[in-house]
Amino acid sequence: MLNIVLFGPPGAGKGTQAEFLIESYGLIHLSTGDLLRSEMSAGTKLGLEAKSFMDKGELVPDEIVIGMIKSKLDTVKEAKGFIFDGFPRTVDQAMALDELLNNNGTPISGMLSLEVEKQELINRLVSRGKISGRADDQDEAIIENRINVYNQKTLPLIEYYKPQGKYFGINGMGSIAEIAGRLKEVIGKIE
Ligand code: AMP
Repeated sequence: MLNIVLFGPPGAGKGTQAEFLIESYGLIHLSTGDLLRSEMSAGTKLGLEAKSFMDKGELVPDEIVIGMIKSKLDTVKEAKGFIFDGFPRTVDQAMALDELLNNNGTPISGMLSLEVEKQELINRLVSRGKISGRADDQDEAIIENRINVYNQKTLPLIEYYKPQGKYFGINGMGSIAEIAGRLKEVIGKIE
């Protein structure tokens, strides 16, 4: 199985590139952000709880997102592999994911980290906010907070995957096709 953690700050292009990878490799896309937004629009208890964190650009508590990923993994019986997008975002989430996958004998193959300059992230998020209407993409202070939270809590995950030989840094600047090409090259090495 090919299990990829598609990693990077908000606005790095994880969702866009995930779409391309799903098609190319027949993988299942698991985005905790998408899952949380559908809980929110369905008005579930979990969605309401998550909303208060998402609106501020803070992380939703680990137990909520880990529980969500666990139940998704439980429902999929046949898969060529998964793309984890926006998850894990903390070391505790990464450890929980390893436990879930190791129990199935299908560990993470690699962490592909899209690296993009801060000003470019802000520009991309602001223009995405105009199209998508996502509240957390429309306020520069919230965008700033999400990038700070990423730097403090999520970036350390590179040091979690590096010693396992699973970290691959990828230049996330350039056209969608150029970045897709770089991802494909790395996947060719880990497949
Ligand atoms: P995203 O769509 O990945 O940018 O996520 C949007 C928001 O959902 C984030 O700013 C967090 O509030 C929340 N979120 C998504 N994934 C996670 C996660 N793995 N851990 C905690 N919060 C998350």
